[in-house]
Amino acid sequence: LIAFLLYLMRLTGPIGQLVQGVGGLQSGLAAMRRIDEVERLPVERDGPVPRKARTGTSAASVSFTDVSFRYHDDAPPVLRDVTLTVPAGGLTALVGPSGAGKTTLFSLIERFYDPSSGTVALDGTDLREMPLAQVRSMIGYVEQDAPIMAGTLRDNLCYAAPDSDEEEVRRVVALTRLTDLVDRLPDGLDTEVGHRGTALSGGERQRVAVARALLRRPRLLLLDEATSQLDAANETALRAVVADVARTTTVMVIAHRLSTVTDADQIVVVDGGRVRAVGSHTALMVSDGLYRELIEAQLLDA
Ligand code: ADP
Ligand code: MG
Repeated sequence: LIAFLLYLMRLTGPIGQLVQGVGGLQSGLAAMRRIDEVERLPVERDGPVPRKARTGTSAASVSFTDVSFRYHDDAPPVLRDVTLTVPAGGLTALVGPSGAGKTTLFSLIERFYDPSSGTVALDGTDLREMPLAQVRSMIGYVEQDAPIMAGTLRDNLCYAAPDSDEEEVRRVVALTRLTDLVDRLPDGLDTEVGHRGTALSGGERQRVAVARALLRRPRLLLLDEATSQLDAANETALRAVVADVARTTTVMVIAHRLSTVTDADQIVVVDGGRVRAVGSHTALMVSDGLYRELIEAQLLDA
């Protein structure tokens, strides 16, 4: 075989060029494979793709087990020994002072970061054992004061789920109490909104953001409530939307409103990176001084 290869290498003419060409192609392929390997590293850390894709819209549970987290090796921990179970379905509200670690908890659920120690799991599966795309497809994330982009209302609703059909869009518009808005806009769903378009109120913007997240059919909705005040009509609407969604989807809300915590099935009080207490509004009002203080402060500026 070696003699044959040497013979081929000595060849000139078309066959020799072909052999050399194959050699060049192979080193090219090897280089491409190396680049590919580097680019795929984060994906490879994701773990195996499960045999059965999780589709459908059933609610997902979330659990934190002994989770500690620091943003940098030399920074102090932002979460400390967090153990928390959020059952599938229903509304869980997170409350706590600014800087307590609430948004960081959401970031770990979305796997923007991995815990420094401990485990975050969705439906009992460690996030690190699921492909990142699967984690993200299970979760709808509504950030605080979510932006409206230039474009039509429909663009704003569908940009993360461009395949949504008209029926699905209408269903989610109704669910998020946006029907009146759509009826009022001159071109309905095809009205330009946002920058240079029709301005939406804070409450409408928030419900558009929720609708956008719901069109992706998440099994878990993470909602960082807007701190800006909503008028009474918008507050009532959002409350109804959250209650409706929580019937079929797990909803976790970083709460800034009394109505959200009183509606919650479970309230988690976060302070200094720790889960300080978990319970119902009535129970926490009796048992937890910090919770009572937060609620009283909330009542004062409502
Ligand atoms: P909350 O949402 O309860 O107000 P956060 O989770 O946003 O609290 O922040 C918790 C702590 O982590 C704060 O001390 C904050 O300064 C810090 N922190 C948040 N995000 C980052 C980041 N990207 N890098 C470094 N520190 C951060
Ligand atoms: Mg926050």
